[in-house]
Amino acid sequence: MASLPRTVGELRASGLQPRPVKQEIRDNLVRKLQAGDRLFPGIIGYDETVIPQLVNAVLSRHNFILLGLRGQAKSRILRGLLDLLDERIPVVPGCEIHDDPRAPICAACRARAAAEGDAMAIGWLPREERYVEKLATPDVTIADMVGDIDPIKAAQAGLNLSDELTMHYGLLPRANRGIFAINELPDLAGKIQVGLFNILQEGDVQIKGYPIRLRLDVLLVFTANPEDYTARGKIITPLKDRIGSEIRTHYPATRHHALAITKQEAWTERATGLPVEIPDYVREVVEEVAFQARADRKIDKRSGVSQRLPITTLELVVSNAERRALVHGEPIVVPRVTDVYAALPSITGKFELEYEGELRGAEAIARDLIRAAVGNVFSGMFDGVDTRTVAEWFDLGGTLQLSDTTSAEQVLTMACGVQGLPELAQQAGLPKGAPPPAVASAIDFVLEGLYAQKKISRSDERGYAAADASPRRPTRREEQLVDEELQMPRGAGKKKYYN
Ligand SMILES: [Zn+2]
Repeated sequence: MASLPRTVGELRASGLQPRPVKQEIRDNLVRKLQAGDRLFPGIIGYDETVIPQLVNAVLSRHNFILLGLRGQAKSRILRGLLDLLDERIPVVPGCEIHDDPRAPICAACRARAAAEGDAMAIGWLPREERYVEKLATPDVTIADMVGDIDPIKAAQAGLNLSDELTMHYGLLPRANRGIFAINELPDLAGKIQVGLFNILQEGDVQIKGYPIRLRLDVLLVFTANPEDYTARGKIITPLKDRIGSEIRTHYPATRHHALAITKQEAWTERATGLPVEIPDYVREVVEEVAFQARADRKIDKRSGVSQRLPITTLELVVSNAERRALVHGEPIVVPRVTDVYAALPSITGKFELEYEGELRGAEAIARDLIRAAVGNVFSGMFDGVDTRTVAEWFDLGGTLQLSDTTSAEQVLTMACGVQGLPELAQQAGLPKGAPPPAVASAIDFVLEGLYAQKKISRSDERGYAAADASPRRPTRREEQLVDEELQMPRGAGKKKYYN
């Protein structure tokens, strides 16, 4: 820091050349590529899809747009561009648009540069302050984006209104020599899009009829929902035309990537309190809920299911387990599959429902998703494992009453009475000498798995019983069969119609 030039003269003598921001980002990216640095650290699953396209866009010095559904790390990628900026750049101190001391564009800085010459003091702007972000909404105005003329300022200074000294700068000029990110671009009114385009094209803009020339140097990046973006009339054509690259983002292509993202993002290692041990099958069930939701036709595909669903769900799952452990004085927090049901508050708000889904209700759909997710994970893990002993115990009239607040010890005690259950739980990948909360979690997983496979039933109060005992609503087909049956001669048997 001490060696940084402090005046324009020193800056000129240092040989540092002014560079447009897109060139600066390109140069730094080139260096990172040559050094084999990891690009966009923390972004998982985009190595072969999104990142190569991003790199090409930056190498081409394009303004670009990320097209994707919610929760696909779009904002995070854009903020990741900060790493490609110089650590700090020279600026005229106090200039709202971060003028380059060697070539200021605003009238005040030009006047100052002319008056002070090489002795003019300079400041250094860290890269973190060169990123401006705006969520587009229909009520964003030209004044917000570009700026406004301040008539009072003008009157006080005795200046002509068209003099830029009377200008109150908006977000875009304040992003000068940096990155300006606009999220959800299609929500921006057409008039504002025209203003953006003019800045991009001509470097000037009209404010309240006064033409103001601002030769801004900005990397413009955008995000949008793909359908909104391609819908006719949402984006003015000339603006679309000026966006060099359209890059599609996506949800994790594999469960492996999805698990890694959630593991990275979810707050599960709680510094104060008990150690947390999350079984793999709980992580997988949480992730599978999102995969199920994305494939469910009752859920709106155009708005998508954010990766924030599994992230926040896992956090609530851990919290529910934490609460149980604290109440019972258990030494370790081990989440159970049933804790996922306690995470409904972080699931139901993460998707939009289609009409069919609305009829059923978000909560019922979320429960279906969890049950299906448990079924998938359980089937994978217990493939080829004989579960009949446990199912038979229930078939013979056995029942088990549990809740997500039942202590580990109590779960173990109750499970010991169920023929084959403790042995089956061992198949859930329990390490030798696993503590009671971990064993209880495995038992819970087996019960929920058998319930998901419809081998046993479960009441809303979490009473497990034989499969046939489940008081479920008959499907329409079954109702029909029952109606037919009523006309059948007695003794024809009931069972066979339910095959
Ligand atoms: Zn200035």
